[in-house]
Amino acid sequence: MKIGVSGIQGDFREHKQMLERLGVEVLIVRKPEDLDEVNGLVIPGGESTTMIRIMKMVNLYEKLRERISNGFPVFGTCAGMILLSKEVVNFKQDSLKVIDIKVERNAYGRQVDSFETEVEIKGFEKAYKAVFIRAPKVVGYGNDVEVLSTYENSPILLRQKNVLVASFHPELTDDTRVHKYFLNMVK
Ligand code: GLN
Repeated sequence: MKIGVSGIQGDFREHKQMLERLGVEVLIVRKPEDLDEVNGLVIPGGESTTMIRIMKMVNLYEKLRERISNGFPVFGTCAGMILLSKEVVNFKQDSLKVIDIKVERNAYGRQVDSFETEVEIKGFEKAYKAVFIRAPKVVGYGNDVEVLSTYENSPILLRQKNVLVASFHPELTDDTRVHKYFLNMVK
């Protein structure tokens, strides 16, 4: 199994490290052809407007969208979640529109920019420490979307078939369980 991590922008190195710790071969994806080499893709946290702009510029946008609609597994964290969402409600920006969720950018950032909190995740035996950094909030989701975790009544980890999204940063902890969950989606 080889997993791609989008290296367009953001904290892709941390995702790479995490996946390598789990014994997976990683390719940093920067061009459309790279997608042919991998069995799944992680889109990291960072700056979603920059990411979408560059993805279009290097022609990754169209190919990735088509791939995902044909079942290619993808996991977006924070800005990556914004990129995969159907709609961004508080900014005028495009997205890949492959998971039926509506997000509000920087929604937790108004009170405190960053925080950590223990959450319950469906199927995980013990609590999970989630790290939030200027995180997007899910403000709506469709019937086909499964909510795997919530924080203060908002979903923070969601899945629709081959698309997994988290508003927090699993790559910034030592806990490998969320990445393992994604790898099981790829297998
Ligand atoms: N606020 C960023 C955005 O909207 C996301 C923050 C993050 O990825 N940590 O792009």
